[in-house]
Amino acid sequence: MTRIAFLGLGDIGARMARRVVAAGFDLSAWNRTASRAQQFAASLPSGSTGRVVPTPGEAVRGAEVVISCLSTSADVMAMLGAHPAMLDEVAPNAVWVDCTSGDPPTSRKLAADLAARGVAFMDAPVSGGTSGAEQGTLTVMCGGDSATVSRVQPVLASFAGKIVHCGPVGAGDAVKAVNNALLAVSIWSAAEGLAGLRKAGVAPQVALDVINASSGRSNATMTLIPQRVLTRAFPRTFRLALLDKDVAIAAAFLRDQAVPSPVVQLAAELMRLSHAALGDAADHVEAVQLVERWSGTEIA
Ligand code: NDP
Repeated sequence: MTRIAFLGLGDIGARMARRVVAAGFDLSAWNRTASRAQQFAASLPSGSTGRVVPTPGEAVRGAEVVISCLSTSADVMAMLGAHPAMLDEVAPNAVWVDCTSGDPPTSRKLAADLAARGVAFMDAPVSGGTSGAEQGTLTVMCGGDSATVSRVQPVLASFAGKIVHCGPVGAGDAVKAVNNALLAVSIWSAAEGLAGLRKAGVAPQVALDVINASSGRSNATMTLIPQRVLTRAFPRTFRLALLDKDVAIAAAFLRDQAVPSPVVQLAAELMRLSHAALGDAADHVEAVQLVERWSGTEIA
């Protein structure tokens, strides 16, 4: 049975790891905060092929595939720095799949460090949210060589509905960052438009009826705003801090590519401001509340 190490049992990581166990893989999981690891262990059915271990070194020992899903690439590096012996435990022919929504330069550095030890690396950020992870329908964006993507395909299939090989190491991170920049722009611009319409006396539900049958529709107008803003539910599934990080990666990526990108650069600034105003625990859709504050109206 293929041995898998899973590092990082956060909102999405824990759900992905549960899918890996449900697919019958032999999984050793680790999380920095032990209480979260214990919660994950308690969620596994008895007699399952998954367990939690107290150190990342123990998790990766003997694993054929190491999956990490931390907040940022810098956190992956920090984990390696905090546990210097763990890399010695990674088998030379193993594959390291980083499902963190990371940044391309750090992924390329990590790939080079691991290659020096004979370990293949692939950046493999995901989209589809916590519900997609639960249902096993995530989209995985892979950056690496085709042989590596093929080797880990059966493991990725346990939580993915779609696996796309985007290009060399860093390409998955870049596609993910651009996708999330589009998400930030669509949430923010929809909130501005709906706030203005609300002030002019058009109910948001009425405006969305039109927009969602017209060319301005997006995931923000079709799903996020109806389900989370109009209801005032604002569930916490994907932290604004993480979207802020993603849009900053997209902005840096576009600057590196010498693409004039005023909209994405501004979106990065707006996400930074929203994150600073609303705090680390806020959900990404709560950014709408800043538009509401600034405009003195509620989108409801
Ligand atoms: P969470 O904030 O819920 O969890 C973050 C995880 O990273 C925790 O396990 C945390 O450990 C760990 N971590 C952070 N820093 C370190 C560190 N320095 N050393 C060791 N562990 C660390 O994030 P999510 O699970 O929501 O997201 C994980 C990744 O997936 C992110 O890159 C995010 O952008 C991406 N993503 C998330 C989606 C979502 O809907 N939530 C959707 C698509 C992508 P601890 O518990 O100790 O804090």
